[in-house]
Amino acid sequence: MHTLFAQQRLSQYAEAREYVELGARLVTVQRLTGLRPPDLHRWFFRDPRQAQFGRPPNAVQWYTLANLLQRVDACLFAAPFQRLITRGFAPKAALLNAYRGYLELGLCQPRVDFDRAVDLAGHIAGLWLTHTAHLIVLTCPLCACDTLSTQGLKTPLDCPFCQLQSRYPRDKRVRVHFPTPVPRQLAMPRLGISAFCPGLSQPTSTPPSFSRRAQR
Ligand SMILES: [Zn+2]
Repeated sequence: MHTLFAQQRLSQYAEAREYVELGARLVTVQRLTGLRPPDLHRWFFRDPRQAQFGRPPNAVQWYTLANLLQRVDACLFAAPFQRLITRGFAPKAALLNAYRGYLELGLCQPRVDFDRAVDLAGHIAGLWLTHTAHLIVLTCPLCACDTLSTQGLKTPLDCPFCQLQSRYPRDKRVRVHFPTPVPRQLAMPRLGISAFCPGLSQPTSTPPSFSRRAQR
């Protein structure tokens, strides 16, 4: 019995499930997996209110017109994506890993949703939405951060991280988005005689007994 078709279809649905869980629009899932909208509705969007409709983003100029926090967030996703692509990862694997890494940063209000991430990744790799790469990640010579930029440039223009550093002290919105990390309480270094006698620095919960009964 031939099961190749079933295997292909199951892997398509497994892939689609990952995109849906990340909040992808129906059209984006269709574009990435090749599954038809009726099948996607049947499996993932039985309640039409849960489906995200509308046209997915597809605009090269979005990045240059975006505000500072949107551009910083776009860079936080784009830099690992391009790094993974350069190291030979498959584009879809790079997309999922880079976007999950971006979400794991724990920003209070992420400015890049999954559809936007697909848009950015497509314009970096020249895939899915376009046949030409329009964007590239370059290292800023001033702050050494990886910054999204237009293809053809040698150094990024208007690095958002340089702007972020200058605006951070006087812009509350920026400080809320990127709060200062709380310093972790590190264990005190063990110095001097306590380093050679662990029992001195770490008292046990039950005091040692020196009675004759305990020594027998
Ligand atoms: Zn910079």
